Amino acid sequence: MSLKSLIAVLAAAGLAATATAAEVNLYTGRHYEADTQLYAAFEKATGIKVNVFEGKADEILAKLEAEAEVSPADVFLTADAGNLWRAESKGLLQAIDSETLKTRIPEAYRDPENMWFGFSRRARIIFVAKDGGVDPSLVQTYEDLARPELKGKLCMRSGSAIYNLSLLGAFVAEWGPEKAEAWAAGVVANLAKPPQGGDSDQIKAVAAGECAVTLANTYYFVRFLASDKPEDQAIAAKVQWIFPNQSTTGAHVNISGAGIAKYAPNREAAVKFLEFLASDEAQNYFAAGNNEYPIAGGDGGNAALAKLGDFKADQLNVSAYGENQPAAQEIMDRVGWK
Ligand code: FE
Repeated sequence: MSLKSLIAVLAAAGLAATATAAEVNLYTGRHYEADTQLYAAFEKATGIKVNVFEGKADEILAKLEAEAEVSPADVFLTADAGNLWRAESKGLLQAIDSETLKTRIPEAYRDPENMWFGFSRRARIIFVAKDGGVDPSLVQTYEDLARPELKGKLCMRSGSAIYNLSLLGAFVAEWGPEKAEAWAAGVVANLAKPPQGGDSDQIKAVAAGECAVTLANTYYFVRFLASDKPEDQAIAAKVQWIFPNQSTTGAHVNISGAGIAKYAPNREAAVKFLEFLASDEAQNYFAAGNNEYPIAGGDGGNAALAKLGDFKADQLNVSAYGENQPAAQEIMDRVGWK
């Protein structure tokens, strides 16, 4: 064999090796431990290796923008439809053509142009102290949080937190900007202290009597409920959950979801990864591992999550959260929800 043909054979072998060692490069903004089990299950099911880059959603968006055409990213996975909308509006995603995803994921939880799909749900609901001096009948709707009777009773996470921006974005879509702004101003007027900390901190503050009412995502509360630590159980025991707006529009629901990066080098593997996230197996991980509601059926046998009970969810398409995010941010700034 001549040197030239030997090189050709070696090169071909090298290419074959590359082709069989399929991989998908995942940029994830999710900050939940259970996700590593999810990736392992995908690797086991498909033989496709998942390379994970973890960061805050904002950092990932900046990284994708900076890397542009040479980005190794295949999939952007993140909590909150608002983050997916940011990626889409910056031109960082590409449309996904998958019958599996369209069949498995209900329309309300995916982008109308198929730029991203939701894979798990969380509701942003009201939590009230059991002995905080606020009758639960006073706080049955989001609108109630702006009632003057609640002056000095509320704890709220920052107005720049994406969960609150998406919530207010939904209200801008449903109520119109004027009512949404009046509501946000009413909430700010009722604060017991300046916004501080994450969702868990709001629930802790209610349990500690620093305030009587707050909003948080369901899985943060279920974490306390399902914990085997006595201090966590004590927090859950002091707080009552209320699914808001059950006789009107329903509770605000957000998603964790994913899209495929515009310049994904492993596009096919990326589609497979997203289709896996919609499978029964993966759906169970979201529920069992992170106390989120599956989107494509089942509750993953999560007893603590089931304890919250059934609820009516708002049917507004989650893409409205992002579309109204700039308007929501302006309102937050004007009413001083810092
Ligand atoms: Fe979260």
